Amino acid sequence: RAHDVGGNRFQFFSAEMNALALTRLGLQAELRRALQHEEFELFYQPIFTRGAHRVCGAEALVRWRHPKRGVLPPALFMDEIEHLGLIEDLDRYVLESACREARLWEQRHDAEIGVAVNISARSFEREHFPELVRNVLYASGLTPHRLELEIVESSALGDADRTIECLHRLRALGVRVALDDFGTGYSSLSHLRQLPVDTLKIDRSFVDNVLGDTPDAAIVAAMITLARSLGLDVVAEGIETSSQLAWFEHHGVDRLQGFLFSQPLERDMLRQLVAEGGQPSRAAGS
Ligand code: C2E
Ligand code: MG
Ligand code: MG
Ligand code: MG
Repeated sequence: RAHDVGGNRFQFFSAEMNALALTRLGLQAELRRALQHEEFELFYQPIFTRGAHRVCGAEALVRWRHPKRGVLPPALFMDEIEHLGLIEDLDRYVLESACREARLWEQRHDAEIGVAVNISARSFEREHFPELVRNVLYASGLTPHRLELEIVESSALGDADRTIECLHRLRALGVRVALDDFGTGYSSLSHLRQLPVDTLKIDRSFVDNVLGDTPDAAIVAAMITLARSLGLDVVAEGIETSSQLAWFEHHGVDRLQGFLFSQPLERDMLRQLVAEGGQPSRAAGS
């Protein structure tokens, strides 16, 4: 699948585009058009509580509903969006859509269901980012603590003082902040202590290895222990098997996300899940 291609992304990309007789310039024009014509669409992957496995939130994941090529994952266009300088526009669009959607869940149902939104380093580093978040929240009417912003470790590394100030401003708004893909960057565990974040999302790459005979199990167990001692929520993403689920539940993570529970779902399917009270639906979306 496309997002497994990793380092060869661009080659893969070119091959696909040749087949469709698209040039890179053509792609760039298409991406600009896609933003104007709102061809980007959010899917929502439900996130479940430990134990009872009830839906407690969903992560918004952007897709490009291309008029000819169907639904494309971010691995096929994110780099180019960044390269074109369009990432802040996309982030803003995603943030607005996700907050509007989560407000709908909030109005229609009592359930406490939050929305997690990925924010690129470029957007997060902007001086006015907290103001943008405040404006979007206000416009949507969403209760602030229902919004969780996911930033990657590298965004939190740049200028430490500025980062910490930005995090405090976000926290003052009442929104939550998660460190996404934790464990893949360079930040040390002691750095974590200084960051006013709420949640730690353990990177999917660890999930594959916790059951094997590798040091990863010990590393992840230590990360969970530390995070919990700092009062952080811990989320495991990329849970695909019931043995992985058992391992993470045993080690005390708070929330779980992965194909075992559900793929990212179209907006209406997530609405339906919320309406049904967020019961576990292991087969949803597959
Ligand atoms: P991420 O934020 O770490 O999102 C989790 C990714 O893991 C998603 O891929 C999700 O579909 C995938 N995933 C979830 N559970 C499983 C599982 O059990 N097995 C496997 N193999 N994969 C699983 P997706 O949607 O392709 O997104 C990839 C990355 O693109 C995201 O990683 C995030 O960094 C970025 N991204 C996605 N949507 C947005 C967005 O709206 N804005 C920004 N700035 N970045 C986004
Ligand atoms: Mg994420
Ligand atoms: Mg992640
Ligand atoms: Mg990721």
